[in-house]
Amino acid sequence: MPAMSPPHLPKPAAAAVPPAVKEARAWAHSARFLTTASKLDQLPGHDLPELAFVGRSNAGKSTAINTLAQQRQLAFASKTPGRTQHINLFEVGPKEAPSALWADLPGYGYAAVERSAKLRWQQVMADYLAHRRNLTGVVQMVDARHGFTPLDRQLLEFIGPRVITGEVKLLVLLTKADKLNRKEGAESLRAAQAVLGELAGEQADIGITLFSALKRQGLDDVAETLHSWVPRSPESLAVAEAPSGAA
Ligand code: GDP
Repeated sequence: MPAMSPPHLPKPAAAAVPPAVKEARAWAHSARFLTTASKLDQLPGHDLPELAFVGRSNAGKSTAINTLAQQRQLAFASKTPGRTQHINLFEVGPKEAPSALWADLPGYGYAAVERSAKLRWQQVMADYLAHRRNLTGVVQMVDARHGFTPLDRQLLEFIGPRVITGEVKLLVLLTKADKLNRKEGAESLRAAQAVLGELAGEQADIGITLFSALKRQGLDDVAETLHSWVPRSPESLAVAEAPSGAA
């Protein structure tokens, strides 16, 4: 009969979280609603890097944003009636000195939207992705089970020219990865990588990861990647790089 372990033994220490991950998590958790706009010219101009979240309706975009921000309702503003076709902006970083904006773009491909509204929104998305000043990175949510659909590829075409030059970085999340087994997950990654290969080049910064909000799979990697896209304030770099013991 196996011996029972004595009750006073300490539990094994949880793996230490690296400081860069802690910092990236805290940064993501600071996200708060800023404003909403139904037209591009209603979006405020600003000097902060902007990171856009895009994906087919139902791909898991709101859940991913809420999980990253550790807030249950943040991105569900974009689901309330009348706001589904708006661009919602969130501010991220210290309140007194935000370091970035997140832009939650309307989910595309929603079957119940009438054709004229769809076309109008395709145009808004195309304009936003091709011309939005300060757009630093795009996070595209693609259902891991379905891979890139024609609409997803069309969106890649809108953003492609700026990704190829490295002006805009791209991170693809293959969402709901918990619904796939290991082999299917690897296959989904491979198929998506083949599509993204068309955009690759020396200057391009393209990432891809299996992601599950439900299982928190890939969550820290995503927070770290997004955080790395945002230039640090001179003050935070000074703190991070100061030799220990320096004043
Ligand atoms: P959106 O339309 O892209 O914002 O998608 P939602 O975030 O509303 O998610 C659509 C559906 O997928 C909802 O029923 C979610 O509960 C579900 N979902 C989202 N993320 C995950 C995930 O990581 N795993 C699983 N199994 N379901 C998810």
